[in-house]
Amino acid sequence: MTTEISKGDARRIGIFGGTFNPIHQGHLKAAREVATALDLERVVFVPSANPPHKTDLAHDPIAPATDRMRWVEACVDGIADFEVNGLELERAGASYSIDTLTSVTKALAPARLFFILGYDAFIEMGTWRAPDEILKLVDVVVMSRPPADPGHLGEWLPEFARGLVDIAEDGKSAANKQSDTHIFVLNIDALPISASQIRIDLANGNSIAAQVPEQALDEIVSSGHYGDPQNSAAAANDAEQTEEHEETIEEQAKGNTVEAAQSPPIEPMTDQLRAKLDTVVEAALERNGQEPIALDVRKLTSYTDCVVVVTGNSNRQLLAISQSIVTALKHTGDQPLGTEGSKETSWVLIDANDVVVHVFEPDSRELFDIEGLWVDAPRIEFDIPDAAPSDTAKPVPAPTA
Ligand code: ATP
Repeated sequence: MTTEISKGDARRIGIFGGTFNPIHQGHLKAAREVATALDLERVVFVPSANPPHKTDLAHDPIAPATDRMRWVEACVDGIADFEVNGLELERAGASYSIDTLTSVTKALAPARLFFILGYDAFIEMGTWRAPDEILKLVDVVVMSRPPADPGHLGEWLPEFARGLVDIAEDGKSAANKQSDTHIFVLNIDALPISASQIRIDLANGNSIAAQVPEQALDEIVSSGHYGDPQNSAAAANDAEQTEEHEETIEEQAKGNTVEAAQSPPIEPMTDQLRAKLDTVVEAALERNGQEPIALDVRKLTSYTDCVVVVTGNSNRQLLAISQSIVTALKHTGDQPLGTEGSKETSWVLIDANDVVVHVFEPDSRELFDIEGLWVDAPRIEFDIPDAAPSDTAKPVPAPTA
């Protein structure tokens, strides 16, 4: 672990915000690593009440804030230097980190605050409210998340921050030009666990016992927020599954690929679903979408049948591709349930019910690694014409959404 954080006299407190939907071992391990590395007096977990960047979807719900808060409380209970703060639950409207950090800074003055977040969250920070104010107000600690060590900060510092900080030569920290705050990069020994995978596991009745601390396990499973509690409860007690999961996580932590369990053969895809995939991929190619792939996830999850991933080179192109897909689907009488992502994100997600489409900029595609997440899903082949030479490629129109 590398850091040049000076250990002055002020009390040093970590603020760990997140949706915690639900809390998992990865969060606790990460908080412990940061507390040790930075010699923090304590880490305050702050569950987000209404996360502005996450959408409560029928197939991927956000549990009520009071439940998420209770689970966090259960997990940190008895850990002397971890605590939970529910201030976001007391505030109406969207939970903006700048509001939380402003309140906490006042309440804990003159302590030095370290705002803790993962690499995936940090690179999206330009889409948050007043991200420059956050960098001015508190020290920001960016933790690595599997599978990658993020490398030199200069290569992935979000655009909004570029003029605001001076990056250290080793690429492990940056000093704010206008205040006495820093960005620190910590290469922690992080666990390959995510809340989204836990929600998928629960929806499929798989065990989550290896991913979630015991104190909150039963409550999370029996809440029924993420899947039928009966399925999940059976799985939660399935010692064999738990052992398998623990082994999988251990192997993934070592960077190894894990073989899929033997599963029954997959029913052939309906003509309707196949036609819908063709429509999506053709519409993406129309706007120069690159490397489209489709994965058949019918055997792996109940929330959709196929996942399509495609790359666009800029935010403008992402919006053009997603608009083209939505329009094409509407022409075939299919009304997508919703889209996420905006002019400021490096990804767009289209939820078209039995098909979910991710349109990514190249770095985000690598980071989110959807193909890696669905490594056991069969790939669907398409006839993709050779790429047109760039001077004859269709221009990308300005987005209207
Ligand atoms: P989801 O999969 O739904 O996006 P998540 O697992 O990332 O959820 P959040 O509540 O969004 O959980 O995460 C809170 C913070 O913890 C974020 O800054 C995130 O980057 C970080 N984080 C989450 N999981 C890990 C992990 N396994 N290791 C290190 N940091 C993590």
